[in-house]
Amino acid sequence: MSLRLVLLGPPGAGKGTLAAVLNKELGLGSVSTGELFRNEIRRRTTLGRQVTRYVSSGRLVPDELVVKVMARRLSRRRVGRGVVLDGFPRTVGQARGLDAFLKARATPLHAALYLDCPIALLISRLSGRRVCQRCGRNYHTRTMRPKRAGLCDACGGPLIMRKDDQAKTVAKRLEIDRAKAKPLLEFYRQRHVLYRLDGRGGIVQVFQRLRRLLNHEGWLKNSGR
Ligand code: ADP
Ligand code: ADP
Ligand code: ZN
Repeated sequence: MSLRLVLLGPPGAGKGTLAAVLNKELGLGSVSTGELFRNEIRRRTTLGRQVTRYVSSGRLVPDELVVKVMARRLSRRRVGRGVVLDGFPRTVGQARGLDAFLKARATPLHAALYLDCPIALLISRLSGRRVCQRCGRNYHTRTMRPKRAGLCDACGGPLIMRKDDQAKTVAKRLEIDRAKAKPLLEFYRQRHVLYRLDGRGGIVQVFQRLRRLLNHEGWLKNSGR
């Protein structure tokens, strides 16, 4: 069976980290819009130039552009064991766009998982977040340290703080997210695919909570784990 999940939740809730664990433990592929945009900006592509002013200031890239980019990306890839979308959709407009794309292929979502986290924890996670400049892997100065200080375990690249993780931009991103989240969650609740997942605690704990849920719904049956 091919599992289709979206991870919802505010910046710092742990979506990217959980997506990486789902990839390692369950073989699900993941697509992160934030990572996709940061890559395009780094490579100075046309798309990168279009989105840079939004990403650097913590505002959302316009729906139409995000949906177009994601539809192109999703139609190209082989889904295999399944796919998890991290950071998309973020608005009802994007959710409708994704819905239309999936309906046309008769491949509906299994679940929209909302990673729930108290605001103080979001701020502490974002202020300590470091990312590998080369491969994009996530670390944290207190909770997820690399083996060698300042260097990526996977590729040896330098770990840096994202510009948009500075306190001022974080406050704005959290505010934008709060405004968009309610109608987005309502959209998925009405379609009976919304699940709330407690995002507190260590990553092993969060993954185990999710695995219990996937098992309970019978979605891990054929994955052999
Ligand atoms: P975080 O992991 O902190 O939630 P992301 O890496 O997902 O942040 O996103 C970084 C930035 O990329 C966002 O602040 C926004 O500018 C842009 N972005 C990412 N995903 C989307 C999206 N689905 N819609 C609009 N903008 C997006
Ligand atoms: P998001 O993609 O939702 O913005 P990330 O996955 O990038 O969030 O996580 C934000 C920061 O918190 C990163 O530095 C990451 O290493 C750390 N982190 C993520 N999940 C956990 C967890 N369960 N426990 C401790 N730290 C975590
Ligand atoms: Zn790396």
